Formats: sequence, C-alpha cells, structure tokens
Amino acid sequence: MIPPIASKFVAGESPAEAIDHARELNDRNVKAILNLLGEHYDARGPADEDAEAYLRLVEDIESADADACISVKPSQVGLDVGVEVFHENVERIADYAADHDVFVWIDMEDHDTTDATLDIFEKLARKHEGGVGVCVQANLKRTDEDLERLADLPGKVRLVKGAYDPPAEVALKEKSAVNAAYKEQLEYMFQQFDGGIAVGSHDPEMISYAEDLHDEYGTDFEVQMLMGVREDAQYDLAEEYEVWQYVPYGDKWLSYFYRRAMERKENLLFALRAVVGR
Ligand code: FAD
Repeated sequence: MIPPIASKFVAGESPAEAIDHARELNDRNVKAILNLLGEHYDARGPADEDAEAYLRLVEDIESADADACISVKPSQVGLDVGVEVFHENVERIADYAADHDVFVWIDMEDHDTTDATLDIFEKLARKHEGGVGVCVQANLKRTDEDLERLADLPGKVRLVKGAYDPPAEVALKEKSAVNAAYKEQLEYMFQQFDGGIAVGSHDPEMISYAEDLHDEYGTDFEVQMLMGVREDAQYDLAEEYEVWQYVPYGDKWLSYFYRRAMERKENLLFALRAVVGR
C-alpha cells in the first residue's frame, strides 16, 4: 500500500485501485488516463511484463465499464532494448485495446526517441483508423514539422511543453520561448486538425488560449492534467469541456512522487505537512 503522502499523485499500487479512482473521477465528469508506472527497462523481460499488465488493464477497464483509457511510455515496453521490441509491444497493446474499445496513448520521452514513437503511432493510427494518440513536446524545434505530419493522420495528439531536458541544438531553452511555441502550435492544431486535440497542460494561460481558439475555429479539444494537480480546475473545466486526468499507479510510485514533490514548492510543502501531520 502506498503511504497517504503519495496518494495525492498516485492512485495506488494495484490496477483495482486505479479503476476505483477512475470511477470516482467519472462520477465528477472527468475521464481517466491510466498509466502503470515504469520506464527505461534495459531487458526484454520487464518490458514484456508491463505490456501484459496493460492487456489485463484493458480487460479491467472494459469489465468495470469505466470511462478510461491507457497511456504507455515507450521505454516501459522495450524502446531501450530495441525499436522492434517497442513497436511489437505497443502494437500488441493497441490491437488488443482496439478489440476492447479502449483508447491508447503513447507518451513521448527523450528527444532521440521521437522518430521511433511517431513512426509506430502513424502505423497504428492508420491501422485502427484512430483509437491511438501520441504526445508531442513544444520545446523541441522539430515539433512544427511533426505537427504537419500528424495533421493528416487519424487519432489524437497531446501537446505538452516537454518534461525532458534536451540540448539547445534541438530544443528551446527559455520558458518564454516554449510558451510562445506552445501557443503557435495550438493555433496550428485548431486550424489544421479535424478534432483530436489534447491540451496537456496545467497552465491557465494555455487553457484559456485553447478556449479562445475553440471559439474562433470551432474545433473540439480536450484538456488533460495530472492527478493531484489543479484538481478543482479539472472539475470546473469538466462542466464545459472534455477533461481527462492522467492517473499513475503501480509499485514504482516512489520516484514519480519524488518528481512531483520536487517540481513545485506547493507540492513539497504538501508532502512535508503530511509527514509532520499538520
Ligand atoms: P508549467 O509551465 O510547468 O507551469 C505554468 C503554470 O501552470 C504555472 O505558473 C501554474 O499557474 C500552473 N501549474 C503548473 N503546475 C502546477 C502545479 N503543480 N500546481 C498548481 N499549478 C500549476 N511531458 C512529456 O515530455 N511527455 C509526455 O508524454 C507528457 N505527458 C503529459 C501528460 C499530461 C496529462 C500532462 C498534464 C503533462 C504531460 N507531460 C509530458 C508534462 C509536460 O511536458 C510538462 O512538463 C508539465 O505539464 C508542466 O508544464 P505545464 O504546461 O503544466 O505548466
């Protein structure tokens, strides 16, 4: 069992706890993106094990009739072992999920994995005529071009600012430049995409920009935020828009919780208050 200190950001260790959390969100009109915590496996065994855990999760989502989908990290299902292993595992998950009517997101990791990730997304998006989504990072200089490629494909695209720290040759390093790129890319998506736009951000400025673009171009969009972050805003937005909460679960919660606690002063204070019981 995870300690209460981590339960703000992680739904629990078991798939059952993740499904319970999804149902609670569904009661508040928010949908769930379930992510089994795990990444950077350098052997095939654990990558295959996590791929199989996702197949069971797909069955759990279907039998619980939860409004939920899954999100998979490339290095969790074999990218560090080899591109073929990653492609094989993610295709297996997407094929199985399509049979069970569950949507599959592919998260985006370090900048040198973008091609391998977009290639398998394109293959699966065409194969399943949608049913899959991929994340792209506004801080990468290549993203304008990637969005042109993605505009013609079925499926969804989640735009995020980027959680990794790529070198300056390939990435924007100033926060203001990333924010400006995010807005330009959002506008491109609202103009050129036929729906399937996911705004993966907690930033009130980006959300309200998306609302303005929606009013201007009429294109539908969804908002995606992490569990434990601006949850009141998630419930408020869900009164008007489609909102999905990214819900991590699993026994590898400690490093994820540490990242969340360290990224913002408020989160760290929350964690410290939980430890001292005030
Ligand atoms: P920031 O630029 O960090 O902050 C802007 C403003 O947002 C802040 O000033 C504040 O007003 C508000 N805010 C931000 N965080 C908080 C908080 N904790 N509490 C209160 N207010 C806050 N990155 C990847 O590289 N690959 C992925 O696959 C990926 N998937 C993601 C999926 C989802 C659903 C989300 C929400 C993010 C994902 N990210 C991913 C992370 C993303 O790249 C950013 O690192 C992260 O979202 C922080 O950027 P931001 O746009 O939320 O806001």
